Formats: sequence, C-alpha cells, structure tokens
Amino acid sequence: NDLRNDNCRPLGPVVCISPWNFPLAIFSGQVAAALAAGNPVLAKPAEQTPLIAAQAVRLMLEAGIPEGVLQLLPGQGETVGAGLVGDERVKGVMFTGSTEVARLLQRDIAGRLDNQGRPIPLIAETGGQNAMIVDSSALTEQVVIDVVSSAFDSAGQRCSALRVLCLQEDSADRVIEMLKGAMAESRLGNPERLSVDIGPVIDAEAKAGIEKHIQGMRDKGRSVYQVAIAEGEEIKRGTFVMPTLIELESFDELKREIFGPVLHVVRYNRKDLDQLIEQINASGYGLTLGVHTRIDETIAKVVDNVNAGNMYVNRNIVGAVVGVQPFGGEGLSGTGPKAGGPLYLYRLLSTRPADAIARHFQADDARSKADTTLRDQQLKTLTTLKTWAASSQMNDLVALCEQFAEQSQSGITRVLPGPTGERNTYSVLPREHVLCLADNEADLLAQLAAVLAVGSSAVFQDGEPGKTVRARLPKELQAKIKLVADWSKDEVAFDAVIHHGHSDQLRGVCEQVAKRAGAIVGVHGLSNGDHQIALERLVIERAVSVNTAAAGGNASLMTIG
Ligand code: NAD
Repeated sequence: NDLRNDNCRPLGPVVCISPWNFPLAIFSGQVAAALAAGNPVLAKPAEQTPLIAAQAVRLMLEAGIPEGVLQLLPGQGETVGAGLVGDERVKGVMFTGSTEVARLLQRDIAGRLDNQGRPIPLIAETGGQNAMIVDSSALTEQVVIDVVSSAFDSAGQRCSALRVLCLQEDSADRVIEMLKGAMAESRLGNPERLSVDIGPVIDAEAKAGIEKHIQGMRDKGRSVYQVAIAEGEEIKRGTFVMPTLIELESFDELKREIFGPVLHVVRYNRKDLDQLIEQINASGYGLTLGVHTRIDETIAKVVDNVNAGNMYVNRNIVGAVVGVQPFGGEGLSGTGPKAGGPLYLYRLLSTRPADAIARHFQADDARSKADTTLRDQQLKTLTTLKTWAASSQMNDLVALCEQFAEQSQSGITRVLPGPTGERNTYSVLPREHVLCLADNEADLLAQLAAVLAVGSSAVFQDGEPGKTVRARLPKELQAKIKLVADWSKDEVAFDAVIHHGHSDQLRGVCEQVAKRAGAIVGVHGLSNGDHQIALERLVIERAVSVNTAAAGGNASLMTIG
C-alpha cells in the first residue's frame, strides 16, 4: 500500500538469480519482492533445482501474476545467468549464492548506468564463515543440541550453518565428548524417512570438494572425527558425507566456506576472547554468529564487537523467520539490505519520496517504543555541522542537516514480534567509512551531512575540494574526516560510496570500486546539486535473537496479568 500511495517508481526489468539450497524459499522470496516493487522479473534458478522453480512459477501464474511480468529462464549460470546480467535492458540484479559469483556479477554491471544515469543495483546475499562462541558458563546439554542442529541440519548446506565452534578451553573437552556422542547417534540416509537426521549433499561435485577439504585437514595432521548411523541402502550410492568434526589450531586456518556437514572446532583461553573476536572479524565474512554464555557482559561484548548480520544468543543459529529475524550478512557475506527486512523493497525502486522510510518506521514505532539512545548520541556531530553552517550563513546546508536528522534511522533498535521465550531485535547501524566524491564544496558538504546523520565517518580524496572543506570545519568534525592520497588503493578502507558528478565519472568510479579486493561496495550516484542522498545506503542492519528462556526462564512472563 505504501509503495502505491507514495508515487514510487520501479527499477525496470530485474534479474533474480538464486542458489539450489532453499530452492523454493529463496527463489520465490526474490521474485515476490521484485514484483511487489513493481518490476518485471527474469528468474534464473540454480541449475540443480529448475523443477521446483518451474512449479513455483506455474503456481504464481495460476494465482494471477500476468505472464509477461514473470519469466522463468532456467539454465547454466555461466551462460544464461551471465547473459541476463550482462544485458543492457536489465535494471536490477538480485543474487543469492557464493561470494565468488557475486564478485563476478559486480564487475559485470559496474560500468552500466540506468536511464537516470545511476548504477544498476545489485543485492547480493552470499556465504559465511559462521562461528559460535561458547564459554564455560554455558549449559553443555543445550550447547550440544544447538550445535548439532546448526552444523548438521540440511547436511550443513545452509548459508547460516555453523562452521567454526569456538570453545573456552576450560570446558572444551566436556563439550566435545558430548558432541561426539550426539553425532554417533545421528542417522545418515534418505531424508524422506522420519528417522533420518542428515541427508546427502547436493551432487557428486560438492561431495568431492568437501571430502577433499577433510582429507587436506587430515594431511595437515588435524584431528578428524566422523561418525553416524547409516540408514538404508542408498547410503552406498548417494552423495552422502559423514558428519565430521575437525579440531583446528586457530580460527584463521579455515580460508573459505565449506558448504557441507563439517564442523570445525577451535579452543580459546578466556583472557583471549578479544583476540578471538578479532579473528572472526578478520575473516571478512559476517553472516551469522552464535554465543552461548550465562554472563551478560560476555553477551554484550560479543554482540557489540562481532560484525555479523544475524546474531543468536543461547540458541541455534539457523532457521531465520521472516518478520522475526530479517536475514542477511555484512562484508563478504552480502551487500544488504536484509531479505524480508524493512529496507528491502526500497532498494528495488528507482524513486521514492525522501521521507518514505522514516514514515514507514514511524508506523512501527506507534506500536512499540524504539530505543534511540545510540542515535541521539550519533546525531551530536550533525548538530555541530548545522551550527557551523548557520554561523557561515549556509542556509541550504542547515535545512539539509535538519532533514537528515529527522530521517536518519541509524542507531535505532526496535523489538520485533516473535515467539514467547525469545527476544528479537532489529537495529540499524552506520557503515564504518563512507567515501565521499564530489567536485564542488556544496555537494561534498551535503555528503558529509548524510555521513554524520548516520553516525559514520567520511573519507575525502586529498585535493580540492576535500582539503579546503575539511580545513574550514571545526576540529570535532575534522576528526570524522580522513583525507587520503588515492582512494582507489586497496588499503583505503570504506564500505559505501557517495558520488556527485556526471555519468562518465560515475561509470569510472563504479569500475574502480568493483576492481578492489574484499567485500562488494555499493556506489550511490547523484547528479551535481541533487542532495536527496538515500541515507539507507549508508547503513547496515543487525538482527539479534536471544533465547530468554535459557537463563532459567523468561522473567517478562511474570509481569503478565
Ligand atoms: P553459486 O554461486 O554457485 O550459484 C548461485 C546461482 O548463480 C546459480 O543460479 C548459478 O547458476 C548462478 N551463477 C553461477 N555462475 C554465474 C555467472 N557467471 N553469472 C550469473 N549467474 C551465475 O551458489 P550455489 O552453490 O548455488 O549456492 C550455495 C552458496 O549460496 C553458498 O555459498 C551459500 O552460502 C550461499 N547462500 C547464501 C544465502 C544468503 O542468504 N546469504 C542463502 C543461501 C545460499
């Protein structure tokens, strides 16, 4: 309704490329979102799962979606997928799959602009190197149940699945012993049977890749434990991989996502928790994260310091529910916005009123109170910019600061509805560093206002106008701006870009950004003088799900009645 009433405009033809795991949910989720935003859809399912996609499309057409609006294009990624993404007529790409393919797609579309001269949006949801931190205060029985479901459900073929279990040394032996016991009870076979816990992996190629990794670990001298009860004859023919536990010497031994039933374990010393958190962040991935502990300070430390889109406290780390745990990662794990999150549909539009998102959230806040503590703190530097602009008689900048202050959602945490015994929150947080590219002072200052409005810090190219603008500002604001000699160097860190200028410059910037190593970074392109910067392009979203029943019951129930 909002989208209709608001005079929003769709992007145009959107290509949806989905993976084989969750062949119905991810396929139909992408398609439904693109259609809801008013875009015609070209849907390319994974080559392993075209039949489920065909059936889904049949049902959608039967339900009344006009035929020309939704087209199914099954086929190989390298041919059909690449052909679609490379077509000039395509105005948006939604992709879920591996980080490697997402990078290819980014490079493919980097030089292309839409009719309004803006970069083609790419929403990429990719893999993870998901960790769970378990300290010695955690309840071992519960840890084991949650580890087994997180690592081995769907034979570990979930992007959210647990890959590295980090155990505090003091209780590690006990947890590992019980975990091995649980693995020995698990049943491997055809998942059609209710008694079966773990099914096959998707195909022979996947099986060979996973087994090669396991053998590599054996060759390195790592302890490898594999066990399960084999059920039925299929096990001899099918592409089954035994549930596997591998003890690593350190977190960073694992270099890439192993998409199967392989759980890695590392031990850590309590005093080294900060270092462990650094290693988890250094992987560059940031999809899911779990923590099991009874100590509130440890929960806060982990949740506040790990970069991951979906965090789970004292529970398993899989099975995100739409509307309860909006799903999506950071860094190498995805571009955002989160699937099923409140910002998702807006990314699939070419135009929307400036205040549409703020109004959307206002409606939520009428139902439950949002926590704005962080936002209020973050906005202080924007107030400093506004005061400076007022004293310099820059009335347009004053008005812009006021508008951004009103619209910014960054730093706000909201409670989402969910089952009893669970507390689910959704927070909007700043991206760390925003590269600001403009060739005049007014545009650069507008960019700075947007950056400060979300609580981020700015990166300016050393030279004009960046150098002069920075020098004129109060010290407090200078501290939020880093001048760099050459932004295109890999060592210059930024996770968003705002660009003002003409389309040839913008094309060059997009291509340059796409060449950099690391995560996919989006470029928000505007023409000179257009200061309607979309603040949502400068934020990340976090979902935290806490099992409140873990620490002896849900105290909030006592207040009912
Ligand atoms: P994949 O990257 O191999 O393939 C995904 C899709 O991309 C398929 O449809 C494939 O045909 C297509 N494709 C491949 N090469 C292409 C190219 N050159 N151009 C255009 N399209 C191309 O991934 P997969 O093996 O199908 O799925 C598993 C991966 O997906 C894992 O890494 C997993 O973590 C990730 N995943 C992420 C999420 C998430 O929400 N973050 C969800 C599910 C799966």
